Amino acid sequence: MKEISTKLLVIGGGPGGYVAAIRAGQLGVPTVLAEGASLGGTCLNIGCIPSKALIHAAHDFEQARLQAAGNSPMGIRVSEPTLDLAETVRWKDGIVKRLTSGVGALLRKAGVQVLAGWATVEDGKTAVVQLEGEAVRVRCEHLLIATGSEPVALPSMPFGGAIWSSTDALSPTELPRRLVVVGAGYIGLELSFAYRKLGTEVTVVEAAPDILPRYDEALTKPVLDSLKKAGVVLHLGCSVAGWDAKNGVHVRNANADEFALPADKVLVAVGRRPRATGFGIDSLQLTMNGRAIAIDAHCATSMRGVWAIGDVTGEPVLAHRAMAQGECVAEQIAGKARRFEPMAIPAVCFTDPEVVITGLTAQEASAAGIETVEASFPFAANGRAMTLGAEGGFVRVLARKSDHVIIGWHAVGRSVSELSAAFGQSIEMGARLEDVAGTIHAHPTLGEAVQEAAMRALGHSLHI
Ligand code: FAD
Ligand code: NAD
Repeated sequence: MKEISTKLLVIGGGPGGYVAAIRAGQLGVPTVLAEGASLGGTCLNIGCIPSKALIHAAHDFEQARLQAAGNSPMGIRVSEPTLDLAETVRWKDGIVKRLTSGVGALLRKAGVQVLAGWATVEDGKTAVVQLEGEAVRVRCEHLLIATGSEPVALPSMPFGGAIWSSTDALSPTELPRRLVVVGAGYIGLELSFAYRKLGTEVTVVEAAPDILPRYDEALTKPVLDSLKKAGVVLHLGCSVAGWDAKNGVHVRNANADEFALPADKVLVAVGRRPRATGFGIDSLQLTMNGRAIAIDAHCATSMRGVWAIGDVTGEPVLAHRAMAQGECVAEQIAGKARRFEPMAIPAVCFTDPEVVITGLTAQEASAAGIETVEASFPFAANGRAMTLGAEGGFVRVLARKSDHVIIGWHAVGRSVSELSAAFGQSIEMGARLEDVAGTIHAHPTLGEAVQEAAMRALGHSLHI
């Protein structure tokens, strides 16, 4: 078998793995990256990017439909729009292609050797990569596991046919008339909005009593109202007991009553599981954290020279966390002193309206014994939100009572995902309420709500 030696072998070319490889290459670390499927991983191929493309296309289509129905308060009138779904999917695929080939180009530029094949770990310093027609044994000083995660299936409804994973839902060949979505978390709700806007009848079944169980009620209420307004039917506090093609999804409510929800397709979005077994990795007997590989503040595993980043290390399952960890590991291998100890990893749910949490929630602060002040500023009092026809939602700031250092931002509203940069920066830079309140924010922008929330926490909001 052909053998190569390198300093760093990265297994997995998703946001975690490809960023680690690029950064290592930039720093002169000889690096090999093995990717069995497609560069860009879940995020670029079947996750973040295609879902946001579909969500945006669905939004535009819905706007056109509302305008055609004479429901545009701005006076825009168009004739009945139609959707060429195949064209929409091609457009989405084109974006994916541009980004994934861009990743290939960046890896080449950084001098990374990419092996297109599945890797099997032999020991902490060796893996075999199965390329087309031949296998290559790679010996390395450092092994980085960045194998990501995969969707969890329900035993009573394995994926296939009418039972969709998120991957199937992102490449539909036709729109289902009736879609039942199991799970009202990130994927379930983002795609419920998208399909509803495209014209599908959507019903959501969620085991917890609330949607987006990790967010507080003030943040989820506008999303819940919007789902209801859009005509999405919700069955909260209900579990799924099975499926048959004739009756649809069998659902059990809190009183153990069973009923059936007819469906042409069922999207199961009940979480993702780390891809931490099944490619020789078990033989390393790494310390685990549940199903995830346990890591320390350096992203080091329990075995010297073996590192792990991204979804394979568990929650939060977010691309930007994986990327930041990848950069951190590469720099350590290149000899820099680094730790992965962020104060804030923004979590954004791209529903309509969007929801963002950066830093601590009030509940987390209270559990940590931190006395806080908090204040919200509503978009109803923000000029830019009015011009966008998006007056729902608010920005909320959470700061330490003792010194006004900001420890959390929470927001719900149109395009609040774009405010997450300001949120993260202020927390990481140790900004106080006075710093944000005293910064001139451009007018008219949604960002003024950020400044106003800080002012309000200090007791002197100007526009409310
Ligand atoms: P992955 O992206 O999963 O990449 C792992 C790679 O490793 C894969 O390409 C896989 O083929 C490869 N691999 C696995 N085993 C082997 C092996 N043995 N040999 C070779 N290669 C191997 N996150 C956000 O931050 N924002 C979003 O908006 C967002 N939207 C999402 C929407 C959907 C529908 C889904 C499913 C996920 C979404 N996520 C989002 C989550 C995000 O995709 C992940 O957190 C991110 O991709 C994790 O990166 P990673 O590098 O850890 O793993
Ligand atoms: P999730 O954890 O966000 O939501 C899963 C939901 O399914 C939960 O509300 C849970 O209570 C519910 N559930 C679990 N078992 C159930 C059952 N048997 N019946 C009914 N409901 C059940 O998981 P997800 O939506 O699959 O997404 C996976 C991960 O991908 C997320 O944790 C997130 O980190 C990541 N993601 C992020 C984004 C983003 O950043 N915008 C978008 C999509 C996905």
